Amino acid sequence: MPKWQELCANERKAGYLDAAVVGGFSEYILDFALRKNDAAHQRLADTARFYQWATVAQRPQILDSMESQLVALFGADKVDEPKKDAVKKETVKKASAAKSLQYLKGIGPKRAEMLKKLGLETTDDVLWFLPRMYQQRGEVRDIADLNVGENATVEGEIVTWSGAATRTKLYILKAVIRDDSGTLAAVWFNQRYVEQKFRRGMRVRLYGQLKKNGRYTEFNVQDYQLDIDAEDNASAILPVYPATEGLNQKWLRSLVKDVWQQHHEDIYDIFDKQERDELGLMSRHDALEHLHFPQDLDMLERARRTLAFEELVVLQGAVQVNRISDVKKVGIARAADKTVMPRFNAALPFELTDAQKRVIAEIFADMENAEPMARLVQGDVGSGKTFVAAAALYKNALSGHLGAMMAPTEILAAQHFATLQPFFEKLGMTVALFTGSLTAKKRTELSEKLLNNEIDVIIGTHTLIQQDVELPRLGLVITDEQHRFGVMQRNALSQKGEYPDTLIMTATPIPRTLTLTLYGDMKISIIDGMPPGRQQIDTFAVTYDYEPRVFNFIKKHIAAGRQAYIVCPLVEESDAVDLQAASALAQRLSAEDFADYRVGLLHGKMKPAQKDEIMNEFAAGNLDILVSTTVIEVGINVPNATVMLVRDAERFGLAQLHQLRGRVGRGSEKSYCILMHNAHSQIARERMQIMSKTNDGFVIADADLKLRGSGDVLGVRQHGLPQIKIARLPEDIELLSSARDKAQQIITQDGWQTTELGRKILIRSGLLSV
Ligand code: ADP
Ligand code: MG
Repeated sequence: MPKWQELCANERKAGYLDAAVVGGFSEYILDFALRKNDAAHQRLADTARFYQWATVAQRPQILDSMESQLVALFGADKVDEPKKDAVKKETVKKASAAKSLQYLKGIGPKRAEMLKKLGLETTDDVLWFLPRMYQQRGEVRDIADLNVGENATVEGEIVTWSGAATRTKLYILKAVIRDDSGTLAAVWFNQRYVEQKFRRGMRVRLYGQLKKNGRYTEFNVQDYQLDIDAEDNASAILPVYPATEGLNQKWLRSLVKDVWQQHHEDIYDIFDKQERDELGLMSRHDALEHLHFPQDLDMLERARRTLAFEELVVLQGAVQVNRISDVKKVGIARAADKTVMPRFNAALPFELTDAQKRVIAEIFADMENAEPMARLVQGDVGSGKTFVAAAALYKNALSGHLGAMMAPTEILAAQHFATLQPFFEKLGMTVALFTGSLTAKKRTELSEKLLNNEIDVIIGTHTLIQQDVELPRLGLVITDEQHRFGVMQRNALSQKGEYPDTLIMTATPIPRTLTLTLYGDMKISIIDGMPPGRQQIDTFAVTYDYEPRVFNFIKKHIAAGRQAYIVCPLVEESDAVDLQAASALAQRLSAEDFADYRVGLLHGKMKPAQKDEIMNEFAAGNLDILVSTTVIEVGINVPNATVMLVRDAERFGLAQLHQLRGRVGRGSEKSYCILMHNAHSQIARERMQIMSKTNDGFVIADADLKLRGSGDVLGVRQHGLPQIKIARLPEDIELLSSARDKAQQIITQDGWQTTELGRKILIRSGLLSV
């Protein structure tokens, strides 16, 4: 028998354990594969690497592909000793046709370094460097016509400028810009380098927002082009690329143009023509051409859809691959026991809602099944998720397993502990709280108890699974809010024992269209009813003119013994600036408007202990007002707080506003949410209206999706769902369903793992690292 086939046959016989050769079968193959840097060798190397990553169940298929590649590459019988020193491992990564940018004219080491920051190292990278937005020349507005709060593009010349660092190390650069209609003060934050390029009289185009800052209005620059010239003006639609310090749009555009002219023929297609025609898509080449050099909006949209399809195929492929690799595993099958719920109910201080009962039944069915549970429970704030989790933990304990419940913050973990501990005690269960601040001694004690099976439920943050805490008999992992386990983490967990069931609880409703498609690898339960007697929270959207009245409203509530939250917006994408804004507000309020009241401040930069202290003060009623950044968003429970004031509400996503609103209305008193905004744009007004109209998280999530597009929906980011960059939902929903079929077709084909799409799918699914 020819040698390669013999080798592969041995690997098959040995049960695909990657052990047919001493030192590893795939390592051995890799040695051959890395001897040369052409496409075929690279493909083989990828296949060998993937073999290492794959589960035993996935390996037969990969091995088949590896075998035929080996025979094709080296001939049937050319197995010789690998020469260890022949090739340096892992030196070759990038596709063959691509050239390093360093060798292009006009790119020295310094520029190459900057380009690297943008992820651009080869000509291929540049061809695929997609604009993050487009500017339309036609949209340039007269300075005199701008409204506060609205995003706009203006063009004008620089009259004068000055920059200065503030005490807090923020660098503020202001320039007076003039057009035929008037002048404005444009402001750049922390972009000192821009200043060096200014010249008096230079024509600039600015994109940003007019804001009120005390008595002045200023134009916050979000994007800009300096020194615009005739050529720029000639093109109706201009691509705007992700930029970095030192590289301006003009230069990036000309780089793309150069690279395009020399290398556009490198772009090949991955879907065949008939397929593309059916879906109304372009070739990859044409799509990229239109995205880089847009002529009109229709073609631009078609180009976007073309690449969106590819993106969605990869995404759907990843979801399906993950599902395949999970189903095969065998977890814990617990006995069905009709007495569990009656005993559980007897310990409850209230009767479960129908929705809670239904979801618990769904969870129990999963737990009685040997397939490891992967279930997502969505339930609006206050729908009673905690006791649904408790029921699962109870059943898990009855089968002799340990349950872990993880919250995103220590405050929340402690809160869960406080709620569940007395309740579980009644059921004869032992609960432990694990926090990062446990002393070494306490930790050892806890570990011992865990090993001695003295604990049924352990509550903590994510450090629980990240740190090397032994969790013996782990049977159920519940995550409250936010985080979702990737395949890797699930594997990490299961290595701690059997394949535990996983349950994820979330109060951020995910739009239905997204759940179906993106969460394909999880089962979904929805708690769609509220416990009886829950308050409707009245929501008002007001502009800043109402501030004094709103403050009086808050004072009235405080006089009646209630408390209030005041939430500050995210000012910049930096914690430091945020913190500054929040503390400035807290200072102002406690010095002026609420001088006679007790005002506290909570922000993300605080140490957990500090946060806890402030939260405890607030919960104990020792503070009247809690000024906060969005850190209070998740799960905090202070029933006496009845007013939630959100400042600059237009800056928040609807899902996030809904979460914030859920912090009030948790007690018996009527509660209110006030959204203070500068919204002059149509879309912002619509969003404020939706918030005032409905308390239903799902309605809000769907509306948010429609108004802002999927890339922006907060829930998506919060859940760690795969981000979609090019596709838009729900507009692309039909494309998505074609993509799902296509993905299905791809991953059932022989050797799919080694195609370009296959590789992308594997990387996206976390099974292959780049
Ligand atoms: P969520 O985590 O979904 O926001 P919680 O589990 O914290 O909600 O429940 C909110 C409040 O409602 C808690 O005070 C809880 O005790 C109470 N609760 C939960 N389920 C019921 C029920 N079926 N009947 C009455 N009150 C309930
Ligand atoms: Mg909760």
